[in-house]
Amino acid sequence: MKKNSMLWKVLVAIFLAVIVGNLTGTTVGIFGLPFYQIFDTIGELFVNSLTLLSVPLIASAIISGIGQMSGQQSFKSLGLKTFLFYIMTIALAVVVGVILVNVIHPGSFHQELTQTLTSPTNIQITSQKEAFTGVLFKLIPTNIIAAASSGNMLGIIFFSLLFGFSMIHIEKEPHGILLNFWKGMLATLLRMTHFVMKAMPFGVFCLMAKVVASQGIQSISNLAYFFLTVFGGLVVFCFVVLPLLLRFFGLNPITHLKAVTPALFTAFSTSSSAATLPATIECVEKNAGVSNRICSFVVPLGTSMNMAGSALYECVAVLFIAQAYGIDLTIGHQILIAVLSLITSMGVAGIPSGSLVAIIIILNTLGLPAEGIALILPVDRLLDMCRTTANVFSDTTCAVLVAKSEGETVLTS
Ligand code: ASP
Repeated sequence: MKKNSMLWKVLVAIFLAVIVGNLTGTTVGIFGLPFYQIFDTIGELFVNSLTLLSVPLIASAIISGIGQMSGQQSFKSLGLKTFLFYIMTIALAVVVGVILVNVIHPGSFHQELTQTLTSPTNIQITSQKEAFTGVLFKLIPTNIIAAASSGNMLGIIFFSLLFGFSMIHIEKEPHGILLNFWKGMLATLLRMTHFVMKAMPFGVFCLMAKVVASQGIQSISNLAYFFLTVFGGLVVFCFVVLPLLLRFFGLNPITHLKAVTPALFTAFSTSSSAATLPATIECVEKNAGVSNRICSFVVPLGTSMNMAGSALYECVAVLFIAQAYGIDLTIGHQILIAVLSLITSMGVAGIPSGSLVAIIIILNTLGLPAEGIALILPVDRLLDMCRTTANVFSDTTCAVLVAKSEGETVLTS
């Protein structure tokens, strides 16, 4: 009953935000202060309060999750299964994207856009080598405090994995003390998340109203075919592919969807998997009934590596840009783009517009015009809301699938 009332509150908030955002735009205000700015500030405070929790939450979830594993074997098998499920869901998402972009061929409807492309994008062009070494240096930073304060999730994950893994190899007594400490830390942070989530309808209203006020419907109509290809692909992935996967493993997709809806709304409104992490953990553990041992390993890792929605977006965007420039790509090129989308998506940061850097890397790798990224920017934010939702949905799906494969009776059964 309580869960449903939150769902309704958020739906009403989204509905009102669309109306209010449209009416106010970026200029209408009160006492000289545009409403847009008020929404922006309050929305950012909501995102901040979620992001504030994510660093200690990732660390305590991973350390307490691994710390309670019985040994090396259990860690290895869980790690392998998790990774395989990530690869499978990302690959399925990319296949959906490649099929749709070839059927709809959105680029041929927008070729006039490439002629108007005069202003170069302000996004920094990164070479593949720089990007690759950048990921490695993020993974192994020199200072864990600096990594935590700069929000370097990969560094925190690596440190926490190593810490948790080493913890299971120390003497029983100190191990028990440490484990209790991290478990207590996790329980407290989840409680904090619970409080922050109470403000969700209000936060969602402000974030949505801000997007509607600044982007409007116009941006979609200019790039309608591209928008529909990505949106359609994400819908197929979330409402056909993932449910079929759940069914295949004997789980109920509807029950699962209901259990994780609050996290999906948070993802949709914040456009950030990292900021959504506290909500995702709460839903997967409390509503879907996945054990803390599995949830605390699969979900934080998925937030950084399992970006299925982003991978779909990357390959559709690159193929769209090539089509819009009238560049013919062979099947071989398309397969390469699909593989690159899969690999680069694993390094995409769980922040708004995190995928753009990966798209530029793929364009550069294939010698396609990198400035073509400017074509998709007008609808990037709206599609970011949708792909982040798909990313989080895929994380929750992988978590219940791993739990099921480990013999747990999850609520979705
Ligand atoms: N905003 C996405 C996320 O946080 C990343 C991206 O595709 O830009 O999951």
